[in-house]
Amino acid sequence: MKQRLNRILVTGGAGFLGSHLCDRLVEQGHDVICVDNFFTSQKHNITHLIGKPNFELIRHDITHPLWLEVDEVYNLACPASPVHYQYNPIKTTKVSVVGAINVLGLGKRCKAKVFQASTSEVYGDPDIHPQPESYRGNVNPIGVRACYDEGKRAAETLFFDYHRSNGVNIRVVRIFNTYGPRMHPYDGRVVSNFILQALRDEDITLYGDGSQTRSFCYVDDLIEGFIRMMNGPDDFIGPVNLGNPDEFTIKELAQIVIELTGAKSKLTYMPMPDDDPTQRQPDIALAKKRLDWQPTIKLRDGLVKTIEYFKSIDLNSFRQPTDHTAHKSSERG
Ligand code: NAD
Ligand code: UDP
Repeated sequence: MKQRLNRILVTGGAGFLGSHLCDRLVEQGHDVICVDNFFTSQKHNITHLIGKPNFELIRHDITHPLWLEVDEVYNLACPASPVHYQYNPIKTTKVSVVGAINVLGLGKRCKAKVFQASTSEVYGDPDIHPQPESYRGNVNPIGVRACYDEGKRAAETLFFDYHRSNGVNIRVVRIFNTYGPRMHPYDGRVVSNFILQALRDEDITLYGDGSQTRSFCYVDDLIEGFIRMMNGPDDFIGPVNLGNPDEFTIKELAQIVIELTGAKSKLTYMPMPDDDPTQRQPDIALAKKRLDWQPTIKLRDGLVKTIEYFKSIDLNSFRQPTDHTAHKSSERG
């Protein structure tokens, strides 16, 4: 059966995940509108799409209302790395909350389906493991990560209230750590930091003793999950976990990156950031059952592709790091 072609808004469409999503939707023939204020991205990620007849770019901040006619909205606009979301924490909460109100209002007016990129951070520092969707989380509401965690939790509340009160057709996914080409080289996330450090034979910065864990999903797997969720049945609105359940300590990740790059880097230990979750692994039983989805790309294979990407880019064309422990260690001279 021929797929229906839609007019689709992607907020945060120039970011790491947003640009991969725009690629997929443009390739499928949809009419794609990418909205971004370039807070944590640059045109770099979407340059190849500019000029295509079914791609449109609008510079706009989603904390202000936007008036468009669309069939679907993927709401991804929000700084995602701790370095970026803690840079202006009040703005971070505003993007999640006011941004959600704006896209949901648009969805209500246009009768559009609205997708929310939520996060494993709604579980905070989890005391059950792995984390199923039914777990209500352990978030410190006044800590340094709260602007993001609580902002995303409030956004989920808004999505479900617009659904219950106004009949908006919603989809909510909780994304676990995802990596791949087009991550911003200076956003301080662990995968980009370690690869850049390794490619320069610099010390690899482990926060704490490196025993905290994360489960890393390659971007292509995640985008497949997004599309399946958006196009799935209307009685399955989420929230659903999307992530790769293969769990690694941060120290193991550092060792794999050193091995794959052949770097001469040593490990160096730095203070643990406040409220850094000690363990994280998605329970993806629900996604398997309802979306027939599970990741297919192993960490080492995904890292090889990501390393190739970081080797290929001209770092001088990216905005320079801001003042942060993660950045200090990767700043040149
Ligand atoms: P990213 O920083 O690369 O992308 C976010 C994009 O949103 C950027 O292009 C940024 O400029 C844009 N943006 C920020 N504030 C905006 C605003 N006010 N108006 C318009 N655009 C704005 O991060 P990402 O990894 O691509 O994350 C995308 C979404 O997925 C985010 O909502 C994030 O919270 C969520 N998420 C990502 C991960 C992950 O591991 N990558 C994990 C959990 C959740
Ligand atoms: N981390 C680290 N060194 C770095 C960057 C991050 O040890 O240079 C750790 C960080 O403390 C956390 C994990 O790696 O435990 C993942 O950090 P990231 O910022 O990528 O994402 P998070 O899952 O914490 O949002």
